[in-house]
Amino acid sequence: MGACGRYNFVVIGSAKTFGQRLIAWYDRSRRDLPWRVDRTADPTVLPDPYHVFVSEAMLQQTQVATVVSYFHRFIERFPTLRSLAEADEQDVLRLWQGLGYYSRARNLRAAALRVMSDFDGELPRTVVELLTLPGVGRYTAGAISSIAFGNRSPIVDGNVARVVCRIDKIMADPRERTTAELLWARAEQILPHERLGDFNSALMELGATVCIPRLPQCLICPVNAHCEAFAAGVAQQIPPPKVAKLSPLEKRWTFIVRAGDRFLVEQRPATGRWASLWQFVTMPADDGDAAARLQKAIGLPVSAMRAMGEVTHALTHRRYEFTVFTCEVHQSDVPSRTWVTLAELDCLPLSRPQLKVAQMAHSLQVDITPI
Ligand code: SF4
Repeated sequence: MGACGRYNFVVIGSAKTFGQRLIAWYDRSRRDLPWRVDRTADPTVLPDPYHVFVSEAMLQQTQVATVVSYFHRFIERFPTLRSLAEADEQDVLRLWQGLGYYSRARNLRAAALRVMSDFDGELPRTVVELLTLPGVGRYTAGAISSIAFGNRSPIVDGNVARVVCRIDKIMADPRERTTAELLWARAEQILPHERLGDFNSALMELGATVCIPRLPQCLICPVNAHCEAFAAGVAQQIPPPKVAKLSPLEKRWTFIVRAGDRFLVEQRPATGRWASLWQFVTMPADDGDAAARLQKAIGLPVSAMRAMGEVTHALTHRRYEFTVFTCEVHQSDVPSRTWVTLAELDCLPLSRPQLKVAQMAHSLQVDITPI
């Protein structure tokens, strides 16, 4: 029991019983996921730290159901931290294709390199050391330290924040900084003395499967006897709904430029959004003549230009709209750009919107005649 700000931290009943009930439920009900270990013989066995590291990177901003198949493919291709450190970045990005937020893949490989050089190839165990790795923040460090090494490290992700807010009937927005700090303090306070990784995993699992954003399943919740929001009948009001805000829209033109069975592509800069991925010729849209802008950009006359449609893509803070055109040219060298067949294109890492453009290009190939 303790106090922080204007909230009294009281787990109704006892904190010990709360932890015991939560872990007992986790043992019975947890989802069978490939980065978790089979506990049938020994409930205290810990998972492979590298598997935890890869899964935590993939799970940021991405649903579990999406991650599972990516995780299998990734571990099959890069079974060890060393194999990831020795991998070509383009191969790593190619395997990440479609998961989005590609900086996670680049950081994962960069972190593997750092572990090889600074930690003798062994993933560090403490939050302080883990925080020195590229792309590892407070949540990921806590998750690896507790889940893979059993350390007393709290974690707060979206699921944990929602569960803790409801258990303590915290009505404030968990996205606000002061509330977030309060939740980190609370997440540390409620840690039990054993099975720390399981306790953290159980909190996340409860948030993902029972204490869900809308319509929390309070009647079957293993810790409803400890929940202030349930007792007060306000679970659905916590956390307060996000104020809908339309993110800025960026408009782009993307050109499927083809010469016979070859398509003109370019690699994006090494920094920024979709860094180092490949794309069809893409530029900011304006009110001008798309064909003229393209001709100027590639230095070739174009013919048979027509619009094919639009591809939209929404990220957390930005929306994109790509107007896609196709046109034909005679194949010539184009500085900073490369001609590829569609089979070759399929081996290059592309962002999700460019994958959709590639599908449009595949549909064109059906009626390709040499020009
Ligand atoms: Fe969430 Fe309801 Fe369980 Fe409370 S009782 S933790 S609100 S599911």
